[in-house]
Amino acid sequence: MTAYMDHKDLANEIIDQARAQEIADGVHRVLDRIAAAESAAGREAGSVRLLAATKTRDVGEILAAIDAGVRMIGENRPQEVAVKSAGLAKRLEEHGFSLGVVESDAAAVTGAAATHIPFHLIGQLQSNKIGKVLPVVDTIESVDSIELAEKIARRATMRGITVGVLLEVNESGEESKSGCAPSHAIDLAKRIGSMGGLELQGLMTIGAHVDDERTIREGFAHLRRTRDQILASGAEGTSGCTELSMGMTHDLAYAIEEGSTIVRVGTAIFGERAFI
Ligand SMILES: *Cc1c(COP(=O)(O)O)cnc(C)c1O
Repeated sequence: MTAYMDHKDLANEIIDQARAQEIADGVHRVLDRIAAAESAAGREAGSVRLLAATKTRDVGEILAAIDAGVRMIGENRPQEVAVKSAGLAKRLEEHGFSLGVVESDAAAVTGAAATHIPFHLIGQLQSNKIGKVLPVVDTIESVDSIELAEKIARRATMRGITVGVLLEVNESGEESKSGCAPSHAIDLAKRIGSMGGLELQGLMTIGAHVDDERTIREGFAHLRRTRDQILASGAEGTSGCTELSMGMTHDLAYAIEEGSTIVRVGTAIFGERAFI
């Protein structure tokens, strides 16, 4: 199915020095771009967090990014989460970090004061894969229907855990994209907020795939207004709906000016992907 997984060993932990340096340079450039955009928008330094989008990257590449300052990661595919998470968690523990729900529990037991690296799922989730990601990810950013939210809630409740969710909204209306219709977002957010086992943390969108700056910004601005309306509703379980996950390699400055709190960046950190 995912052919590249046959060509690249995603569990590989050792990369050469030149590659590690390339990734560190990428991280530093992106952190500089974020700081410049925060400043240009008159926003507080550090108000936007960087999530490294790690699809197609191996454990060694992800560790290099974390060593260079990345403090949040996101995977697209449950299969990649499954292949990488154990090795990643183990190596991170050696560096004083914890990853995933299971690892943080282990850290709590041993009393280790590890810095937690939030692990997000940012790609589409089929309901038969929920069990695969729930023990590992802190937040699922790609929840776009009541049916999916209910299935995740049921699984989380069975495990006695609470999982963070972002409601994904298809602001551009492009058919290739997942996400709920913008007109349904407020109603869906209220219903998700009232479900046990889920913690509604905010909204997510993917910017319009166009060159026109105004069109891209309008989608981001609309997501921000939607978030503000959800917060203002005072509905049960919506007071924590604060995050706006928007902005990627090519549009992160626009997103930050429109209020983004999390930018998801792959290419600008790791280089072009050899696989889709
Ligand atoms: C791949 C991906 C990103 C990062 O995209 P880049 O253009 O490589 O920065 C962000 N969000 C999602 C959902 C992705 O799949």
